[in-house]
This record gives sequence, structure tokens and C-alpha cells, in this order.
Amino acid sequence: MSRKYIVFTGGVLSGLGKGIAAASIGNILSPTYKVIPIKCDGYLNVDPGTMNPIEHGEVFVLDDGGEVDMDFGHYERFLGVTCKFDWNLTMGKVFDRIREKERRGDYLGKTVQMIPHVSNFIRDHFLRVGEETQAEVVLIEIGGTVGDMENELYIEAVKSLSRKVGRENVLFVHLTYVPIPSGVHEQKSKPTQQSVSLLRQKGIEPDIIIARCSEMLSDNIKNKIAVSCNLDKEDILTGLDVDNIYKVPLVFENQGMSKLLLKRLDLSSNTSLLPEWERLIKQRENAEKQITIAIAGKYTQLEDSYASIIEALHHCESLFSVKIKLKWIETSEGSFDLRGIDGVIVPGGFGSRGVEGKINIIKHCRENKVPFLGLCYGLQLAVVEFARNVCCLEGANTTEVDPSCLYPVIDILKEQKNILDKGGTMRLGCYVANLKSNTMVNSLYCSSEALERHRHRYEVNPEYHKILQDHGLIFSGLSPDGTLVEFIELSKEIHPYFVATQAHPELKSSLLNPAPLFKGLIEASLKKR
Ligand code: GLN
Repeated sequence: MSRKYIVFTGGVLSGLGKGIAAASIGNILSPTYKVIPIKCDGYLNVDPGTMNPIEHGEVFVLDDGGEVDMDFGHYERFLGVTCKFDWNLTMGKVFDRIREKERRGDYLGKTVQMIPHVSNFIRDHFLRVGEETQAEVVLIEIGGTVGDMENELYIEAVKSLSRKVGRENVLFVHLTYVPIPSGVHEQKSKPTQQSVSLLRQKGIEPDIIIARCSEMLSDNIKNKIAVSCNLDKEDILTGLDVDNIYKVPLVFENQGMSKLLLKRLDLSSNTSLLPEWERLIKQRENAEKQITIAIAGKYTQLEDSYASIIEALHHCESLFSVKIKLKWIETSEGSFDLRGIDGVIVPGGFGSRGVEGKINIIKHCRENKVPFLGLCYGLQLAVVEFARNVCCLEGANTTEVDPSCLYPVIDILKEQKNILDKGGTMRLGCYVANLKSNTMVNSLYCSSEALERHRHRYEVNPEYHKILQDHGLIFSGLSPDGTLVEFIELSKEIHPYFVATQAHPELKSSLLNPAPLFKGLIEASLKKR
């Protein structure tokens, strides 16, 4: 079979869930076909690694160390693939490469232009990724909405792709919005018509329209959209608002999505993972137990900053059939109230704002046997707390906060000392840790090794390994050379669950395979109840 490309564009509004829609279509096809995603962002940053999470949402890290946006989290969780940095294009990355090529002389004698040089470069990127991965279906998500200046070249590139590989091998899916204005109480199709008209002016005829709406589209509105967009009624689907993103593939499938995709792409068969998903979704919906987990961070005004942590907790809700209520604690605000809390997560972070608040919360968890999971900065601050209050190293700190502190128990990684550039220079990506036998971490991973993703510049200072261990801090996972502390815990005899990792295990959690350390936290929190 020839390789198929499904291109996703959006209209009317941003934030309609184009990434989720694309991932859901991939999910429907992925048990049978090798599906890989490519995401195209219009911004001029090379990657989102240097953006503030409050502005852009979580920075997702891939196995290969690529820093990408959180849509890749959805892709990995919905498709079961390990994505590559190469599958994310940003205009920053594109122009970087074009400049490199121009300096090398690849365009010798030519005037380098947006069209065809940049657009062809993007098109060839799609073709190359398809070829290198031997994908059967390549999903291409174009960020933003049609009409955004920064995404124009991607539109040109997919047009050119369709000419090159044949229109029959490319499916254009356009995501729009059908509002029901208050007072009118009627589904409105005009924004969709206008957005499709704009897409057509750019030379793209959509094959499928998914219209996001708070209720199922009426036959009447589907007919209206179909006629005005030159499509059949069956090509118009509702992107129904749901309370759980894992329902989106089911919502699509109930409207005949796989039949439509197979017909349009001339594919023969499809098996489905959806019954298993449905079972897990039901398990979460039918939950009778409830626990409250606090997330103590400094980016709490935007929940997307902690997107993967929230997802990992959702996976546990399904696994344990428990409802997890989240309590956000803004640690830069001084006081906090941990009454009624069954477990605490101190997530990753940077800089000094909110740090003392996090340390106080960790102290409270340690002293009061509240289940605690520390992630990255959460591990580092748990070490600072332990050093100050158990090892009696008053004045212990991380040099990230206080470069001249008395006891620098957390210090910059040796290889990071001379790095000045900020973009893409942290210790990034997947690293293996050897797990100490008979520890909680060891039994949760059911393995003597853990492979998790990292994103940090600081580490537990080797000069303090001995004193920390002598006072009872268990180093349950170390880098293979024994120098980096990757996992810590307190003995089960003194605390039901006090575990932290230098890694970000939330990034690899999925509905079918929840992250082991989150499982441990929820299990302990349930027991506490
Ligand atoms: N700021 C810390 C470091 O750079 C922790 C990073 C994180 O939590 N992702 O090491």
C-alpha cells in the first residue's frame, strides 16, 4: 500500500483540541497501521524549551531529549509510539535549517524564497520522516488556525505534498466550531462555512470536517455544512465536548469514523483497541472511592503547565477505580492548608520563587506520614529538607537558589558548569537507572532498572551522598556509574510512601500503563484513607 497522509487544519478558534482530534484518529487506526505524527508549529522558537509553562503549557520531553509541546504527550498516549524530536517542526527550526543550507551552498546561484524553497523543504521533511519511519499513515497537524500568517508555509507545503504523492493518498481533515449562542439556542454553521471558504482560497479542499460542539450536530446543520462545503453529510462529524479526552476516539467511532477513514484512504481493515479503553473509562466513571491529591507548585494558575501529571493521575483513576480530586497549592503564597489531603506531589520547577513553601510542605509530609511523590525539583527539595532537618545541616540549599549557601546539597551537574546557552542544553531525554533491590521503587517498577525521561541542570551533590544515606535517606536508584541519584525514598518502616525521582515519570504514563511511582502514591493515599 502507498503511504497515506492525514493533514489536520483548524479554523474559527484556537484551542479546539486539534491535537486530541488528530491523536484520536491515529488511535483508531494505530492497532492495524503504523501511524506516526508530525506537528508543525508557527512560532520562531526552535522548540518550546525556553518558553514559560504559564504561557505555553508543559514542555514535554521525548526519549531522544527533544523538548516539544504537550500535544506530543497526547500523541504518545493515544498512539503508543515513542515520538522523535524530528517529528516536530517549528518555524524557528525550519529557518535555522534553511540558513544552514544556504550557507553551505545548497542553493548556490539561486535567490532563496519562501515558495518554493522553504515550502519544499517542509514538504520534503514530511516525505523523509514518512520514509525513515516506514509509517503507513503519517498524521500532519498544522498548528493555529487557517489564516494565521505564521502557518502559511505549512499550508503551501501540504498542498505541494498532495501534488507529489497523489491527492488519493492525502486526506484533509478540518476542525471547526459550531457555536450555540445563548438566547438563540440554535447550532450555527456560518463560522464553519467561512473557515472552509478561507481554507479553499488557500487551495485546500477538506475531505472531512469535525465540528466541535457542546451537543451532537443536528441533521439540518450537517446538511447545511455539507452543501456549502461540497461534501457528503457523512463527512461531517461532531467533535462533541467531553469530560475525559480518552472518550474522543469513542465519540468519533460511534459516528462511523473508521469506516469513513478506510473508505477515504482506500485501506482494507481495522482492528480496535477501543473496547479496552472503554472498560478503563467506565472504571473511572463508576468510581465510588475518592481521594484528594495536592499538587504544590508555582505554575498553578495554568493547569496545562502540569498536563502530564494530571494525565498520569487520570490513568490511576481508571486503574484503581477512584476519583482523584486535585488541590492546587501555590507555594509562592506563603501559608498552606493540608487538611483533608491524602497525598502530595511536588512537581518539577525552576528558580527560587515558591521554593521555601515547597520545602515546608515536604517537611509536613515527612513528619506526618503523608504520602509524597517528588518529581525532579521535588526530589532536589526533598533532599534539601532532609539535609536541613534530619542531617542538621542548617543552611543547606540548592545552588540554583543560593549559589553561596553553607551546604550545597544540590549543585549544578559537572558537565553543565560551562554551558551558557539556554536552549536545549539541560540533561535531557531518557536515561537508565539501576534500582536497589528490596526498595519500594524496585518493587513498583518490577525491575532492577528504570528508564525515565529527564530535564534538569542540577543534581544531588556527590559530596553529601554519605551523610544523607547515613541519616536514613535511601538512594533507591542511581545512574549506571553510581554518581547520579535518580530515585530516593524513606524506609517503609518509618513512612508509608516518601518517594522522589530526578526524572519525570509522568511523561511515559498511559491509560494502559500508568506510571509506577504514581501507582505507588495512589495506592498509599488510598490506604491512608
Ligand atoms: N531546576 C531543577 C534543575 O534544573 C529541576 C528541574 C526540573 O524540575 N525539571 O535541575
